[in-house]
Amino acid sequence: MDKISTPTKTREILKKYEIVLSKHRGQNFLVDPAAAFRIVESACSEGDCVVEIGPGIGSLTQMLAQRARHVAAVEIDRLLVKVLREELKDADNLTVVEGDILDFNIDHLAEVNFPACCRGKEYRVVGNLPYYVTTPILFHIFETAKRASSITAMVQKEVAERISASPGSKVYGALSVASQYYCEPKIIMKVSRKLFFPQPEVESMVLELNIRKRPPVDLKDPELFFLIVRAAFNQRRKTVLNALSNGIPEVSKGTFSRILTMSEIEPSSRGETLSIEDFAAVANSMYEVLEEGEE
Ligand code: SAM
Repeated sequence: MDKISTPTKTREILKKYEIVLSKHRGQNFLVDPAAAFRIVESACSEGDCVVEIGPGIGSLTQMLAQRARHVAAVEIDRLLVKVLREELKDADNLTVVEGDILDFNIDHLAEVNFPACCRGKEYRVVGNLPYYVTTPILFHIFETAKRASSITAMVQKEVAERISASPGSKVYGALSVASQYYCEPKIIMKVSRKLFFPQPEVESMVLELNIRKRPPVDLKDPELFFLIVRAAFNQRRKTVLNALSNGIPEVSKGTFSRILTMSEIEPSSRGETLSIEDFAAVANSMYEVLEEGEE
């Protein structure tokens, strides 16, 4: 069968099924077999079990099914689900699931849609993610794909740069800290917008996120850690002391000053200079102070 990811085959499928592409669902299809192959190659090895998010008309799905042991692909668009089921009907290691990925617990989805040989095992997550909902989907994967070992995601270039940014960089923020808490990100390649149909307005990058077996820091209360990270970056121009006391008004400025001193963080520094370890120290000191019942 022809490669779906060629421009000619993509055009043929769009015409055959009278598909009207939806911008608000981020439907920009990859029309470059070489790029598709590189993504698939970095996403999984032979024998891996794969969950694909947003398969579209199957540019990556077709190659994934040729390589992986099993692919469970979740697509929100009913017509595209029909296209995938028809065009890839010979792939007996592919299960196409209709629905919004945000409505599924991904471990459960894998358990229900994988064959017995894949169940209960580690799996990989792959997706050329719809741009309008990239961050919620990534967080959803972090929170519900506990048995996933890696995520290979095509995302907007700026999002890839934010996810992989280091402290001190202009684009380092809450998304960098949260992603790096769960994963070790690596940029695999740039993908020109010219390789999509229709062409989006933005350039893309493929990210490989290797999911950590254990978080890089020990946290007494992970929720407190994420609360602090969000507060520190919500007002990123303010000092960390002001950003935290404005963002978490239940705790007084004096107490935050003490918490920062306990954590050996200069109160006049800015959130964007703090590492994951620094945020963990602040969260753990805050936990101790709250436990002592100082507030
Ligand atoms: N994988 C295909 C490719 O590389 O050509 C399509 C990628 S396209 C950028 C994103 C796909 O995700 C679209 O097919 C869209 O319908 C689907 N999608 C959008 N939101 C979704 C959601 N919440 N859950 C599942 N699929 C979604």
